[in-house]
Amino acid sequence: MTRLPLMAGNWKMNLNHVEATGVVQKLAWTLADYRYDKKLCEAAVIVPFTDIRTVQNLVQGDRLPLVFGAQDVSLYDSGAYTGEVSAPMLAKLDCTYVVVGHSERREYHGETDEIINAKAKKVLENSMTPIICVGEKLDIRKEGTHVEYVLAQINGVLDGLSSEQVGAAVIAYEPVWAIGTGEVATPEDAQEVCGAIRTRVEELFGSDASQSVRIQYGGSVKASNVVDIMNQSDVDGALVGGASLDPEEFARIVTFYGR
Ligand code: PEP
Repeated sequence: MTRLPLMAGNWKMNLNHVEATGVVQKLAWTLADYRYDKKLCEAAVIVPFTDIRTVQNLVQGDRLPLVFGAQDVSLYDSGAYTGEVSAPMLAKLDCTYVVVGHSERREYHGETDEIINAKAKKVLENSMTPIICVGEKLDIRKEGTHVEYVLAQINGVLDGLSSEQVGAAVIAYEPVWAIGTGEVATPEDAQEVCGAIRTRVEELFGSDASQSVRIQYGGSVKASNVVDIMNQSDVDGALVGGASLDPEEFARIVTFYGR
């Protein structure tokens, strides 16, 4: 089974909708310059809620070879939840992906595996694909218990999903100590955990799910280190933060296969 690599640029809380227009256009031109082939890698921008409609118009209006998504979603479909944005609302905007459980949501908004699991279910029920984040902090890595720790997160975030749903999902392994720090896990570190996640998915959901689920690595990925990371057999792409704000750099990451 060949899995289509996915490079997803998580803009976090950066770029207003006017700035988003410029960045998406520049990304599309640069990808064209690099002869980007969407059959070899999928490119996604994961943008603030306020940018989604603008990015949708650009991507669909100009038929850009990009997909887009959101950084979070509500647990609820509608109602008295001030400030929340629901999965049906994101589906109506044609979002392909929704990130759930990013470490910044876990850290600053108290999101637990249980909440992330419920959000992933909402995304799937609305025909979008969740990018479900897991990853250990530095103290766990130093203790050497990172594999068990991440596998316990996997048990929680995937609980109650069907094999088909898991096979269609994306899991992002992001060691928290490598996010936004310039500190990258070695390709072998990334493979160790991504491989263990795939084995756990096989144990829980069977081999079809484990062979089709895409597992990304995330944490200070750049054009200069992406090729070595992508050479690992269980790494199917990257969730890219800081480097995705620079269209030139992100285009080089997306076209990693040509180098
Ligand atoms: C992220 O936000 O998911 C991330 C991996 O950030 P960075 O690439 O900046 O480390």
